[in-house]
Amino acid sequence: MDSSKVGSFVPVHDLTRRDAFEDSIFVSDIFAHTELLAAPVFDSANERTRPNLKVQDGCNNRCSFCIIPSVRGRSRSLALEEVLRQVNQLVAADYREVVISGINLGRWGRDLRVTGESSSFEQLVRAILDHTSLQKLRISSVEPMDWNDALISLMTDSPRIAKHAHVPMQSGSDAVLRRMHRKYRPWHYREKIEKLRSAMPSAAIGADVMVGFPGETDAEFEETRRMVEDLPFTYLHVFTFSSRPGTPAATLPNQIPVRIARERNRILREIAAEKKLAFMRSFVGLEVAAITLNVVSENSDCTWTEALTDNYLKLKLQGRHDANQWVRARVLDRADGQLVGDLQSTFYSRKVASN
Ligand code: SF4
Repeated sequence: MDSSKVGSFVPVHDLTRRDAFEDSIFVSDIFAHTELLAAPVFDSANERTRPNLKVQDGCNNRCSFCIIPSVRGRSRSLALEEVLRQVNQLVAADYREVVISGINLGRWGRDLRVTGESSSFEQLVRAILDHTSLQKLRISSVEPMDWNDALISLMTDSPRIAKHAHVPMQSGSDAVLRRMHRKYRPWHYREKIEKLRSAMPSAAIGADVMVGFPGETDAEFEETRRMVEDLPFTYLHVFTFSSRPGTPAATLPNQIPVRIARERNRILREIAAEKKLAFMRSFVGLEVAAITLNVVSENSDCTWTEALTDNYLKLKLQGRHDANQWVRARVLDRADGQLVGDLQSTFYSRKVASN
């Protein structure tokens, strides 16, 4: 392609002159997109019981490892009325749990202006509770600085919000976070996780952590390892840095050898597995709330229905049970990374609205 045309804007009337632009590829300007159209989707793990509603797209941050802002554009939100309409439709279709998600979910509403003021994510959550009869709302990943006190108390106080906080961490080293262009410092992160845990002692708390970021020294990795060990995570997603062409991090010096990055990844995954196990063990003998999924397994001795607890643990429930029911189960044991339990009661009759 003629490089003189790269990145230039073309007047609409010129587009009819085929000869002038025969070898050109036209793309829209992603940063000019201000609207978001979304429809609920299901991933296979949900087995059609827990729809995922995307209410926000794009991101205004510029983390140095991330290509998303270039391909998805600036943050934009699904209008409040549209979110409520879609949640109400899902409730009418008898779904009991809806997961709300976005690329940078906690920024929902900053681009929407109501009487001159932008809306906040916490207002969205409150509106879903107030204006729909959804039984359970699950909030997907929210950046650390968007976990403000109002959002934490709302989650703590409402049994209709799943006790599950996913808070991307990426690194426990201040220097690495700065090179990543992340907006918070390790002590901010620590404070948010500690607040979440003290408000909700049995909540799932998870994080994304990245190892092998360019220049990550042994000492910097050790800061991350220590933070992971110290904080009350119940699961972790550990990623190894992978260079994305076009991002600032791709051109940073001191890329980490794969062997070292893999070893760091293994160390964190091992700590995470121990934490998850301890969390699961803490529920043996207790009752938990869970939603049944559309997965039944059988062997010669027993039939099991898979379920997911309010606090994001997989549960094998003895017997065959209808999918999409909120139940209370007694946890008998844990095996193969799942709780094992038996049904105590089915609760939440259809269309329960109040807390
Ligand atoms: S990592 Fe997340 S917050 Fe950072 S730029 Fe990418 S989408 Fe935005």
